[in-house]
Amino acid sequence: MNTMDETEIDAFRAEVRAFLRAELTPALREGAARATSVFIEPSISLQWQAILHVRGWAAPDWPAQYGGPGWNDMQRYVFAAECAQAGAPSLAPMGLKMVAPVIMHYGSPEQQAHYLPRILSGEDYWCQGFSEPGAGSDLASLQLRAVRDGDDYVLNGSKIWTTHAHHANRMFCLVRTSGEGRPQAGISFLLLDMASPGLAVKPIRTLAGDHEFNQVFFDDVRVPVANRLGAENEGWTVAKYLLTFERGGKYAPPLIERLSRLRRREGLGPLMEARLVREAVSLRAMQALEMKAMRGIGGNAALYASVLKVLGTESMQRIDRIACDIEGVAGWAIPTEQTPSDLAVAVPRYLNDRAASIYAGSNEIQRDLIARMILG
Ligand SMILES: Cc1cc2nc3c(=O)[nH]c(=O)nc-3n(C[C@H](O)[C@H](O)[C@H](O)COP(=O)(O)OP(=O)(O)OC[C@H]3O[C@@H](n4cnc5c(N)ncnc54)[C@H](O)[C@@H]3O)c2cc1C
Repeated sequence: MNTMDETEIDAFRAEVRAFLRAELTPALREGAARATSVFIEPSISLQWQAILHVRGWAAPDWPAQYGGPGWNDMQRYVFAAECAQAGAPSLAPMGLKMVAPVIMHYGSPEQQAHYLPRILSGEDYWCQGFSEPGAGSDLASLQLRAVRDGDDYVLNGSKIWTTHAHHANRMFCLVRTSGEGRPQAGISFLLLDMASPGLAVKPIRTLAGDHEFNQVFFDDVRVPVANRLGAENEGWTVAKYLLTFERGGKYAPPLIERLSRLRRREGLGPLMEARLVREAVSLRAMQALEMKAMRGIGGNAALYASVLKVLGTESMQRIDRIACDIEGVAGWAIPTEQTPSDLAVAVPRYLNDRAASIYAGSNEIQRDLIARMILG
């Protein structure tokens, strides 16, 4: 709960601003400004994470007992807004935001003690092995087999669209441990080492030309049973818990910053001004909703996560479109190092963010989930 008055909030904001002025180097800012995806290259994001970690601010949402700063919801929101306004790189979500809360909730004390400090420091970089060539929206139909052999599972099959698998040293992974009963009933959740023998990562290029995701092949890959999170065949429940963290969050702060930059451009004309103002108003409404979600007011976490995922990604795509319209044909030229960053990234970001309404569960699926949660 927010128990701060205006003076305390201002003091906290000033502390964050002073830190950002001192620690956020021009090179990190430039790296963030030239990123063409929400998944920033680890060479940049891990550098920033290391600086935050020294200050104890790498995981604003984590409880203090696991190494978080112990902030309230207002502090966390102020921190996100200030980082966005200062142009700080975003951190990779797969470890800090996605698997960490799941380890806190379902992990044994040994798993928590092993993995959480390594996520916080950036020593472990994670990727997400959920989707398969035949299992996307219908995730429960996944087929990657994990057969028990002594103290190990032996994995065969493949995962696809695995973001940053070529950078990761760890994967959290859904596997089929039983073919009995409903498809959801035979799934387990494993934590595995990307250096395991028999595991191969093959790149897939996106429409924007980036190498961001991959197909990952498993050929008799052995994973210790001790690396399972939750009970055998109960991985679906664990996965659903994780998806709430993947889909929810703070979409508004970076979008508000991006829109403010566009609104500062000269000579836009009344029609463009009107489009920008409409987006600004809808972002303020989204920000209010995100703050309600953080406080758990008036809805369950899964409902908020799906609603924010739809609002956040569709707003992102509209703003991308506006940025392209502002840059015009110049945006389609191949950028050089001298090209101003806004011009350089407008078209690549537009292309890359087409994926935002697909990843983390497509927006059609989110609308379906919202309808089920509200209408029953
Ligand atoms: C950039 C990017 C990064 C990704 N990163 C990862 C990752 O790191 N790890 C990972 O595991 N996965 C990742 N994914 C995969 C992502 O989760 C899937 O693409 C997504 O769940 C959709 O599955 P699909 O691609 O198989 O599409 P499909 O399920 O085949 O869907 C195709 C179309 O049909 C629609 N559709 C399907 N079923 C329904 C329905 N019941 N009602 C209405 N419409 C429906 C969908 O909305 C979509 O428009 C990533 C995807 C992208 C694009």
